[in-house]
Amino acid sequence: MSGSAEPALLWLRRDLRLADHPALLRAREAGGAVVPIFVLDQRLWATAGTPRQAFLAGALADLADRTGGALRVLSGDPRTTVPAAARAIGAGSVHVSEEFTPYGTERDAAVREKLDAEWVATGSPYAVSPGRVTKGDGTPFKVFTPFSRAWREHGWRDPAPTVRTVDWQPYDGPHLRELPPAPDLDEHLPTPTEAAAREAWHAFRDDRLDGYADARNDPGLDATSRLSAYLHLGLLHPRTLLADLEGRRGTGVEVWRTELCWREFYADVLHHNPGSAWGNYDQRFDRFPWDTDDEAKERLGRWQRGETGFPIVDAGMRQLLGEGWMHNRVRMITASFLVKDLHCPWQWGARHFLDHLVDGDLASNNHGWQWTAGSGTDASPYVRIFNPMLQGPKYDASGDYVRRWVPELRGLEGKAAHEPWEHGGAAGYPERMVDHAAERTDALARYERVRS
Ligand SMILES: Cc1cc2nc3c(=O)[nH]c(=O)nc-3n(C[C@H](O)[C@H](O)[C@H](O)COP(=O)(O)OP(=O)(O)OC[C@H]3O[C@@H](n4cnc5c(N)ncnc54)[C@H](O)[C@@H]3O)c2cc1C
Repeated sequence: MSGSAEPALLWLRRDLRLADHPALLRAREAGGAVVPIFVLDQRLWATAGTPRQAFLAGALADLADRTGGALRVLSGDPRTTVPAAARAIGAGSVHVSEEFTPYGTERDAAVREKLDAEWVATGSPYAVSPGRVTKGDGTPFKVFTPFSRAWREHGWRDPAPTVRTVDWQPYDGPHLRELPPAPDLDEHLPTPTEAAAREAWHAFRDDRLDGYADARNDPGLDATSRLSAYLHLGLLHPRTLLADLEGRRGTGVEVWRTELCWREFYADVLHHNPGSAWGNYDQRFDRFPWDTDDEAKERLGRWQRGETGFPIVDAGMRQLLGEGWMHNRVRMITASFLVKDLHCPWQWGARHFLDHLVDGDLASNNHGWQWTAGSGTDASPYVRIFNPMLQGPKYDASGDYVRRWVPELRGLEGKAAHEPWEHGGAAGYPERMVDHAAERTDALARYERVRS
């Protein structure tokens, strides 16, 4: 231990990196050793889904290596494990990056109450922490575009200087020798290390960012950054990326920065409306007549397995199961299909996505779903009844994406893969499970009931 200063407990959560880490910087400034821990909270672990578990396990292993083995993973409820660890090491302070999810906020308040040590929250997983950007009268924004304008005007801090030397000290109390078993990460998923995250960012910035505005909607291309899992667990901080874009011009940069802002917007909306995690943001939707009977559950199953008979929907759902990730355009199409064509509650789809996405994030996912369902922050649900038979050939014009994920369609060339019914069908591939035009009419009638 350095000098006589008390050690600082660094409780890592969604900030699994060493670069641009204000909380780590503050912990080090406390003057003593830094004792890093991560708490495997069963409540979060059990709902993470296997790709996220595997990614988290990899990221923790990387950090353990890079702290000279000092990072310890504790098990149990943070409300008891964190105060106990702080007491056991005689910590003068407990350092965190601030959390803003409904569960995280409550948990942190409970931990704080039980601490003898000082609680020091520095930074957050966002460039601008939720709650900071408000309208002129101090109330939260409800619409994205004015939020994004205010977010830019507000701006963000410069990246924190990277700490070179830290007096890392392992916590020697009870901890897990090994994480609970998680399956191997799919080879297509991002490598869960901070170095790989930085490399992925540089490759995107240098090779694909300029073309992003044009190519980002084609799911057959590798045109987006695929940084979402890194951002979710904090292997990269958005501030680092935004600083790197400073001075760069072009529509690619502008559009991409706006995408990052969606992540910040949804975190802000969830922060102000904790009930919107699983409840309708627009409460008029509490009376929406979703189908929830056994037949609806069967429809849900076909959607989950990618057996709807609509190629772009099935390709997306199979990509999710196969890879733990899905292209954004296809997330919108598949989500729209579940709520508008199959009339299932958005929460069913949101749960399935969180179970399988490596980047599963409560704010982005559940508000992405609510945007699609029409119960979210944007009040014009009608325009978004996507027609999967038009969306498919429009965005996957080559048909490569559906052929990659739906092998039954590989015998059909070009756009024909999007309309097997026009070409005598495809062996082993199901008929369309619904008549889109009829379901569209049905959905519109249901929406009318909410409006009236
Ligand atoms: C129904 C639905 C569910 C979604 N669930 C999630 C989720 O669980 N986790 C998640 O990170 N994103 C989610 N998104 C948003 C988006 O699809 C993904 O962030 C994106 O596909 C990730 O790929 P990328 O990193 O290559 O994105 P890029 O196109 O390179 O975008 C850069 C970053 O901006 C952020 N971003 C982009 N689009 C959005 C958006 N619409 N909302 C919020 N943030 C965005 C992400 O952090 C992303 O990594 C969802 C969207 C929909 C429509």
